[in-house]
Amino acid sequence: MKVIGIDLGTSNSCVAVYKINQIEIIDNDQGERVTPSWVSFTDDERLIGNVAKLEVSSNFERTLFQIKRLIGRTYDDPMVQADMKLWGFTLINEENKPKISIEHKGRRKILAPEEISAMILESLKTSVEDRLDETITDAVITVPAYFNNTQRNATIDAARIAGLNVLRVINEPTAAAIAYGLEKETNEEQNVLVFDLGGGTFDVTIVKIKNKEFDVKATGGDTHLGGDDFDNCMVNHFVSEFNRKNDCDMSPNKRGINRLRIACENAKKNLSVKKNATVQVDGLHSGIDFKSSITRAKFEDLNRDYFENTLKTVKDTLSSADMNKSEIDKVVLVGGSTRIPKVRELLQNLFGENKINKTVNPDEAVAYGAAALASNISKDELSELRELKISDVVPLSLGYKQSGGGMVTVVKRNTKIPTKQWNKNSTAKDNQIEARFTIYEGERAAAKDNHFLGKFSVKGIPAALRGVEKFKTCFIVDENGILTVTSRNVSTGKENQITFDKSGKLSEGELRRMLEDANRFKQDDAEWKKRSEQVHKLEDLVYAVKHAVTGEMSFDVSDKDKKEIIKICKKVKTWINDNQNPKVHDSKKKMADLEKICRPIFEKIRDGSEILRIFQK
Ligand code: ADP
Ligand code: MG
Repeated sequence: MKVIGIDLGTSNSCVAVYKINQIEIIDNDQGERVTPSWVSFTDDERLIGNVAKLEVSSNFERTLFQIKRLIGRTYDDPMVQADMKLWGFTLINEENKPKISIEHKGRRKILAPEEISAMILESLKTSVEDRLDETITDAVITVPAYFNNTQRNATIDAARIAGLNVLRVINEPTAAAIAYGLEKETNEEQNVLVFDLGGGTFDVTIVKIKNKEFDVKATGGDTHLGGDDFDNCMVNHFVSEFNRKNDCDMSPNKRGINRLRIACENAKKNLSVKKNATVQVDGLHSGIDFKSSITRAKFEDLNRDYFENTLKTVKDTLSSADMNKSEIDKVVLVGGSTRIPKVRELLQNLFGENKINKTVNPDEAVAYGAAALASNISKDELSELRELKISDVVPLSLGYKQSGGGMVTVVKRNTKIPTKQWNKNSTAKDNQIEARFTIYEGERAAAKDNHFLGKFSVKGIPAALRGVEKFKTCFIVDENGILTVTSRNVSTGKENQITFDKSGKLSEGELRRMLEDANRFKQDDAEWKKRSEQVHKLEDLVYAVKHAVTGEMSFDVSDKDKKEIIKICKKVKTWINDNQNPKVHDSKKKMADLEKICRPIFEKIRDGSEILRIFQK
């Protein structure tokens, strides 16, 4: 059975599969190799990919994008609060989880970010199934290297809702390094720095590659930095210009802002090849047209801090790997935003031009690497990728809160996974009969400044003086980067544990409901398609019949018969116009009505059998 590799991106997603000694990127039903991670709900349809993206101006409250920015985050997260101001769709707060509220088929629907991501995953899975004519159940899914435990778990949930079993979660830059490693000609050991700057996230990973062994040395990044931020910078720039010129405030006009953002993204892309770009939006706000231009220099100036910060991350990652920049043999560029000339220039200045790789496809490398790993894990006998060896690292330090509020780090960042690390501690107070463990991830000294993961307690500890009762606490990180913590009271052997795929996450009940909903959506889509195909057939038939009696090559029928045919055609056409997406059964009934009137008339004429054939289609 075939297994797939999926790059589920903030802006774009891509799917690949290993087929007889080569990896193939699978195009979607619109023939594109990369699918925009957009979902749009119209009155009677759910659209995914480019067709959804095209809906944003006309249907912006129900067109969803950048959903990966919500995955595994809480509603009160400052990033979520800032992002939602820029979106046309509505977010609501459900127990501090951000959910998307939309109107679909006359009903309000509340959807979790995992459900939207699942729709994208499902459509990629279906593309492969259609192309290979095979059912797909297993996948390797990529996540930004800097994704935390909760974000990784939420991604696994999304896959489950899409009906996919996740073979492995792998970091995006590691997958890209695999793509590079399999493609490069030499077998010599190389240190490769993957610089992945996409739409929403930024990752830097240093990998030592030898033959088919990929050894990650260090990783760094920002889960909230990418092309979307550069677009927003330009949007803010032009909003100020518009407000100044027209003495107004267009900022609350979300629809206008959205239209401006599309124009800005295009201008940004143009600036990657030209020195100057125009931004034009007709009737941007209060009916006023907007036209302006921006130079590449201005764009670079607006984003200077962002660009320079990426270099700071590169330097920090080099120092985490204990390496000097001269030890890097190749820099692999991944993600659409690495096409920005300034980004390339900064990297060239740091590493030298000949170190920048230009052969790896920045849009496809991640899915390519994921498919290679999928084939490797599934132990495909035919695969030459059987010997692939990958060792990755923990992106953020993991630990617990001490009684004074300090963070005790148990697993240091950049530790190789899978890993198992022990820590000993004891009661903090006299006569303590319960020990609470609060688990965090991050690099700050005070636990509260890090990201809270979950808590648990060990109960039934014998009352004793502070420090007498001891605990052995174990942190296990599996190969997906998912954490389990166990703590045991040494004197009683009492133990408790927490697996973070069960905390702050979707419960089994929620997951089941979402799976059912996903299936319902799928059925609805299939039903919608059937209905529209049937009504389309009916419309074809109306035109064919009408054409047969009125067209240039029309059949010889009496005026009375002709009138009758035109009358029924008109009637059916009106019915089609008045009924949006009618039931298959009703369209068939109309076909029968049409046939009942036309058949006896066509049967009477000499070449009638020719036209009668259209009723058999
Ligand atoms: P993600 O992995 O986050 O889904 P991608 O790697 O697909 O993102 O990159 C998408 C981002 O790259 C978008 O912000 C897009 O505007 C930007 N991008 C694509 N092409 C160019 C280009 N030629 N110049 C500048 N930015 C580009
Ligand atoms: Mg990406």
